[in-house]
Amino acid sequence: MASSQPSDSSRHSSTVTPPRVAVIGAGLSGLTLARFLTETGFPVKVFDKGRSPAGRMSTRRGDGGTYDHGAQYFTARDPGFQRMVRTWVERGIAAEWRGRFGSLEDGTVTPGSEDPVRYVGVPGMSAVAQGLASGVDVRCGVRVEHVRREGAAWALASDAGEALGTFEVVVAAVPAPQAVPLLSGAPGLAARAAGVVMEPCWAVMMELEAPVPLPLDGVFVQGSPLSWAARDSSKPGRSAGERWVLHAAPEFTREHLEEAPEAVAPLLVEAFSRAARLELRPREAVAHRWRYARAEPPLTEGALFDAERGLGACGDWCAGSRVEGAWLSGVALSRKIALLQR
Ligand SMILES: Cc1cc2nc3c(=O)[nH]c(=O)nc-3n(C[C@H](O)[C@H](O)[C@H](O)COP(=O)(O)OP(=O)(O)OC[C@H]3O[C@@H](n4cnc5c(N)ncnc54)[C@H](O)[C@@H]3O)c2cc1C
Repeated sequence: MASSQPSDSSRHSSTVTPPRVAVIGAGLSGLTLARFLTETGFPVKVFDKGRSPAGRMSTRRGDGGTYDHGAQYFTARDPGFQRMVRTWVERGIAAEWRGRFGSLEDGTVTPGSEDPVRYVGVPGMSAVAQGLASGVDVRCGVRVEHVRREGAAWALASDAGEALGTFEVVVAAVPAPQAVPLLSGAPGLAARAAGVVMEPCWAVMMELEAPVPLPLDGVFVQGSPLSWAARDSSKPGRSAGERWVLHAAPEFTREHLEEAPEAVAPLLVEAFSRAARLELRPREAVAHRWRYARAEPPLTEGALFDAERGLGACGDWCAGSRVEGAWLSGVALSRKIALLQR
């Protein structure tokens, strides 16, 4: 672990040449930041351990079609984010989900009132991240394990020991607990990240032969191991079929955190059957564990940045635990880093 600071001369030179920036994490926050800085003229490289960008906005393919097994939809309250979402809609990578929403408890369905406008990626949630990633230097399938001081820069290395290059600025755009070791060169930032608790969430992707006879497409489930169930195939641009995503409540997830997905899937299918008072026999039911789903509670800073050391962090845990928060956080940090060029 090194914490030496850049020399005065290196700080001066960074005002002339844009600093090289590494972004660890190709979720919405990292991609938003990387795209903004790339367009502003910074040399930016993004690394992600996943097979493709999107993080918690991923879309997964099952036997019967695709599922958004992480983020279900997003809303837009901030005017800047509303403008961004409008451009995604115009490009055809997002659309309104005009589903029927409400709550479900013990077989009783209550339709929602005053629903917000809900957006989804098209043809899957990950389309938004893929749209942001185009034109950005993104390398997937590499887990960054070390961020070490090397002269006036930071040297990155993967868990396989591969040297990934040196950068004047490094951003951890990953869930808070995963950011802690990457921020060890800036102990103040690492401590802020270490104080954030992120709740896990078990998700189940379930395909059925016939439509589930519920008059809703998205339900907040009460009094159940589940918190949410959605007819994923009702979202715009999805292939035909009857596919649902179930999300477990935090208490259930914590209790079953280390169990095998094969053991968890039937428990949550059964919980949904009970809540809806229906006999459900899915053709396919696959569970996925999100170890760090949402910050409870998130920070309010927007983003963390140590300009002297050139280390920063962004993500939904800095600004609201939602897709909109992740975007706002990426924008907030990109503005701070852009100041280094002036
Ligand atoms: C089950 C679930 C349901 C949700 N529902 C909603 C919803 O309905 N509406 C809503 O607005 N939000 C929802 N969210 C939250 C939303 O998904 C997140 O707010 C948003 O996607 C976070 O983006 P991010 O960029 O901050 O982080 P992430 O999307 O988590 O991106 C971080 C990326 O970093 C990568 N990474 C981590 N460590 C490393 C490393 N060492 N090296 C390389 N790469 C690394 C990961 O692979 C990942 O791609 C939900 C989340 C979950 C899990």
